[in-house]
Parts: sequence; C-alpha cells; structure tokens
Amino acid sequence: MARQLLQQCLQCGAWTLATTCPSCGANAQAAAPLKWSPEDHRAEIRRKMYNVSEAEWAKGLATLPSLDEMKSSQNASEEE
Ligand SMILES: [Zn+2]
Repeated sequence: MARQLLQQCLQCGAWTLATTCPSCGANAQAAAPLKWSPEDHRAEIRRKMYNVSEAEWAKGLATLPSLDEMKSSQNASEEE
C-alpha cells in the first residue's frame, strides 16, 4: 500500500497516483511532502522579500471604506 497518494517515478520523474510509472513502467514511490514547521523558520526571509518594514508595503494592504463613505452608501441604498 502506498504511503501517500502522489507517487513519483524513480526513473523518469513522472508524477502518478499508481505505484508503477504510466510512461516508462518503472517503480514509482511516494513523493516527499514539503517540510513544514509551525515555527515558520522562513518568516524572516519572507518579510525581507516583501519589504514589510517599509511604509509602502502598508499602503498596499486592502482597506475598508471610511465610515462616512459607508454611511453615505447605506443611505443611498435605503432611498432606492
Ligand atoms: Zn517513469
């Protein structure tokens, strides 16, 4: 029984769900899952990559409309 569903051919590298390769017939074995840790060892690298410390990054985040804009749009929809 396969350890996990996704298998990779040992000879040609093809991906399959079976334990024999569909393209060359060699053995396929479970592809190793990505390493994952709840401590997120790459968080610092990712923060550098996205320049989180820069003010420009914060400006690019999604924002809600201001309270006045929400009130005015609410009043407009009630009048219809
Ligand atoms: Zn193969």
